[in-house]
Amino acid sequence: MKDAVYAARLNAYAPHSNFLVGAAIECLDGRVFTGCNVENSSYGLTVCAERVAVFAAIAAGVMPRTFSRLMVCGAPRSATAAALTPPCGACRQVLWDLCGDIPVTLLGLDGASETLQLADLLPRAFDATLLPSADR
Ligand code: ZN
Repeated sequence: MKDAVYAARLNAYAPHSNFLVGAAIECLDGRVFTGCNVENSSYGLTVCAERVAVFAAIAAGVMPRTFSRLMVCGAPRSATAAALTPPCGACRQVLWDLCGDIPVTLLGLDGASETLQLADLLPRAFDATLLPSADR
């Protein structure tokens, strides 16, 4: 799965930040979907690698909350080594909603890694359990 993350990172479209991110999400059935960050000249429309990967899986028919783990690697375009990069806040929220408390592995260009549970990255998460029922 690490190789899929590194390969996806090289597909990043990041002309503004030059910060390339690749991600891979593994499904409970073993399938792996990848994503890269896709920037936009209207910066707020940029989508992160983690969300691209999860959305690709959903678009392929994977049911929400049937994922086993996520790996992500982010680093400047010219870097050969960089600090481990955790998902941003928006991605943490989307991952929580669609994946639940999965392990998230932060992967370095040099192969270093650290694995954290999503619940530790997003404590006291907001989700649908806090919304009123559609029946009310
Ligand atoms: Zn993000």
